[in-house]
This record gives sequence, structure tokens and C-alpha cells, in this order.
Amino acid sequence: MERSPFPSESRPEFECNHNAGDPVLETGIYEICHAQGSRGTAVFLQFDYFPPCTCCGSRVRYRLLHAAPHLLEDPDFRP
Ligand SMILES: [Zn+2]
Repeated sequence: MERSPFPSESRPEFECNHNAGDPVLETGIYEICHAQGSRGTAVFLQFDYFPPCTCCGSRVRYRLLHAAPHLLEDPDFRP
């Protein structure tokens, strides 16, 4: 096992590979990679499109954190 203090954030700009306007290929929880460096998370649904950001517009990037194809079928999930 390699040990890294930031295993999932060592190459954040490389991993944020979805642009605003791109189709969402799979339902899941995505990390929002703002142009100025702040982060957030949101759920996006397959067949939808990644929206431009209110703060950084089309410069925002998105990254899949956790694919959840059955998210909306889970009775415990209430958005
Ligand atoms: Zn933004």
C-alpha cells in the first residue's frame, strides 16, 4: 500500500475532467471543482448536463466521487 497524505487530491486539476455543458454519463455524487480552487459536492443524474457555476461559469469542472446508479431508487434517500 502506498501511503499519501492526500490520496484523492494529489492531482485535482487532472481528475476534474467534466466540463460545464458535458452530459452526465452516470448518476452519482460529484465534486465541484471551482476555478478559484474551492470545492463542493452535488448529485447529478444520468442524461442531465453539468451546469455552469454561478461563481465561475463555464470554467467550473466536475469530478465523479461516487457513482450511485440506484440512488433515486433507495427509499432512504431524500434529496
Ligand atoms: Zn464556481
